[in-house]
Amino acid sequence: MNSYEFKRKDEVKLKNNKGGYFGKILHVDLSSKKIWTEQIDDKFAEQYIGGRGFAAKLIWDNLQKEGQFDPLGEKNLLVVAPGPLTGVYLPSSGKNSFATISPATGIYGDSSIGGHFGIEIRQAGYDAIAIKGKMEELCYLFIDNDQVNIVECPELAGKGNLETEGRIRDKLGDHDIRVASIGLAGENIVRFACITSDWSRNAGRCGIGAVMGSKNLKAIVVRGDRDLPVDDLKRVEKISNQAYRELAQHKMMNFWHRQGLMSVIDYANKIGILPTYNFHDVHFEKAEQINGFTMEANYKIGNTGCFGCPMCCGNINLAKEGKYAGTVVEGPEYETAAMLGSNVGIDDFAAILRGNHLCDDLGVDTISMGNLIGAIIDGYEKDLLSIDDLGGKPIGWGDAERILELIEQTAKCESIGATLALGAKGVLKRWPQLKPLINHVKGLEQSAYDCRGAASMALAYGTSDIGAHHTRAWTVGKELEMGADWGIEEKVNLVIYHQHIRSLFDMFGVCRLPWIELGFHEDFYAELFSAVVGKEYSLDDLLQKSEHIYNMTRSIGVKLGTTKTDDYPPPMAFEVPIHSGPLAGRVCDRDEYEKMLSLYYQKRGWDNQGIPNLAAEL
Ligand code: SF4
Repeated sequence: MNSYEFKRKDEVKLKNNKGGYFGKILHVDLSSKKIWTEQIDDKFAEQYIGGRGFAAKLIWDNLQKEGQFDPLGEKNLLVVAPGPLTGVYLPSSGKNSFATISPATGIYGDSSIGGHFGIEIRQAGYDAIAIKGKMEELCYLFIDNDQVNIVECPELAGKGNLETEGRIRDKLGDHDIRVASIGLAGENIVRFACITSDWSRNAGRCGIGAVMGSKNLKAIVVRGDRDLPVDDLKRVEKISNQAYRELAQHKMMNFWHRQGLMSVIDYANKIGILPTYNFHDVHFEKAEQINGFTMEANYKIGNTGCFGCPMCCGNINLAKEGKYAGTVVEGPEYETAAMLGSNVGIDDFAAILRGNHLCDDLGVDTISMGNLIGAIIDGYEKDLLSIDDLGGKPIGWGDAERILELIEQTAKCESIGATLALGAKGVLKRWPQLKPLINHVKGLEQSAYDCRGAASMALAYGTSDIGAHHTRAWTVGKELEMGADWGIEEKVNLVIYHQHIRSLFDMFGVCRLPWIELGFHEDFYAELFSAVVGKEYSLDDLLQKSEHIYNMTRSIGVKLGTTKTDDYPPPMAFEVPIHSGPLAGRVCDRDEYEKMLSLYYQKRGWDNQGIPNLAAEL
C-alpha cells in the first residue's frame, strides 16, 4: 500500500453561504489531456437547477457544436452531475446523474446512481464534470479537490468492479475515497454496461458504462473536503428534522426496512404486471420462491443505504448453502429479481443472487440482460433461433447455469454473448425474426412492469425520452387503482406529471422513493430547494424548469433521429393478450393509444409528429 498523505473529513458539513452551488464545472479532454474549469453564473444555475438539468444542457450544447457523431467516439460527452441538494441534510439526498448520447439508443440517455459518489464530487467543489475525448491507455480520473489528474492503470484491465474499487482505494491509501468504475462489460463496450460505485450501486441504463469504456476510462475517483453551501442552514434543519420524523413514524417504514423494493414482487404478481417468460405472462406461479419473504427468511443478512437515507432499501443477501453458497451481494431489488427471475423462468433465489453478483461485478445492467436473455429463450422455444445461433448449447426457461453463463459471455463478448452485447438494436439487426419478441422502445430494453393492463404505462414507455424505462414515469399502479373511472385525459396528464416531477428529483440530486413509496409530499422539495439556494420557488415554478429539460432531451432525440414511429410501446403490448391473472386477455388498445399520443403531443405543445419547437430550446 502506498503511504499517501491526506486529510479528510469524516462527515459532510454544510455552511451558510450563497446557496446551492460551487459555480464550477470541471472539464476533462482525455484526448489532449487538457483539464480546466468553467464558471457558471446564477442564470445558468437558475434555469437548469443541476443534476440531469445541467447534464442535458451540456449535452445539448455539445451537439450544437459537434453535429452528429458516434456515441462511442471521442466527441461524445459524458456528464457526471450531482444536484444542489445532493449531500444536503435531508432524507435520501445521495443521487447523482450520469448522462451522454447513448450507444444503445443513439439518442440522449441518462442513469442515476445513489450511494455517496455524487456527494464527494460536491465536496471536491464541482457542480458537474464533463468528460470528452479518449485516452490511448486505460486510465482513471483522480479528482482530489482542486488537483485533477489522469492516471494510467493498465493493471486494472479486465478487473471486475469490486476488485477495481478495492485496488484503487488500496493504492491511494484511502478507504473512504469514492470510486465510480466500469467492469469488463464497459471495457468491452457492451451496449448496456453500467457504471458502479460503493461496490454495488449502479447507473445501469442506456449503456453509460460503454461510453466510459470507449474513452478508456476505467474509473472516476473523487476525494473532497469542502463544506456544502446552503443559504439558510436553520431553515434547512427545521424542514429536514420534520421530514426525518415523519418518515420514521411512517407505518410502512418497518416493512420497508425488511424488504425494500423486494416487496414489489408480490404486488406485481398480484395485480398482474410481473414480467414472466419474456413478458408473455404477468403472473409467475413460483413467485413465492423469489419474493421478499423468501429473501428475509433465508438470505438477508443486513441493510445498506445511500447518504442520509433513513429508508436504507439496500438488502444485503448471502447464499448460505447449495451451488451458489458464499455469494454475497447488495440486492436484488425488484427489477433484478423480476428480470433475472420470473422473466427468464428462474425460481431459485440463490441463482438470482449469483446473477446479480455477476452483473454488478462485470458491470452489466440487470434489466437489459434479463430482457434479452428472456427473448433468446423465447426465440429458441419458438424455433426462431437454431442451436447453432446459440453457440451449440441449448437454453430453456429456468436454466440457471446456462443463463449465468450467458451473462459472462455477454460481458466477455464471447459466443452468442457477442451478439447480446450489442443490445436490442444489435440483436435485431442480426436476428430480425425476433422483432415480435424483443420488448424495447427506442433501443432501450423494457424494464420490469408489463403495460398491457394500463394504457398510461404504455404511453409512459412509448414517449420516454430515453426509451422503455419505468423511472421516467411509473403510472401503472395509479391507473389500475382508478380502473374504469379514468379517461384518456387523466392518463395523459399523469404521464406528463411523472415525467416532470421525476426529472426534478434527478435535477435536485435526490431519490424519488420517499415520494413514490411512502407518499412524501412534493412541496417539501420545493421548500427545501428554496432554503438551500436562497430564493423562493413554488413547486409549479420548478416543474416548469423540468418541463424545459424534458423538451430539451426530446429535442436532442429529434435531432438524432427520433420520430413519431419511435413513440410506441413494444409490439407485444398490442398483439399478445395477457395469459393469466386478473388482467387475463388484456392488450393495449391501438385506437386508445393513438388518441392518447395525439393528446400528449398537444398538451406538450409539440406538433402532430411529436416535434418540439427546437428554437425554444436554444
Ligand atoms: S430509498 Fe434506497 S435508493 Fe433511495 S436513497 Fe434510500 S437507500 Fe438509496
